[in-house]
Amino acid sequence: MVSSRTATAAVGVLASLAVSVAAWVLFDVAVFFLAVPLVPLLFRRQTEEPPVYECPDCGFRTRDPEFAYCPRDGSQLEEQ
Ligand SMILES: [Zn+2]
Repeated sequence: MVSSRTATAAVGVLASLAVSVAAWVLFDVAVFFLAVPLVPLLFRRQTEEPPVYECPDCGFRTRDPEFAYCPRDGSQLEEQ
């Protein structure tokens, strides 16, 4: 009776240990696979600022690439 309960407890401990290890390994792998694609995105976001376009005539500046010409005087914007 006692040995049976001890054996059951031991199996339970081993099973929970195995689940913990498996979950840790799976979680670690999941974090690894989730984090790796994000690293270049974060790196790119920090290093690559959107270029500034500036009007050579009036100094109008914008980061919007939709602006090819100055809305004030129609001059072509220059990428800084
Ligand atoms: Zn201008």
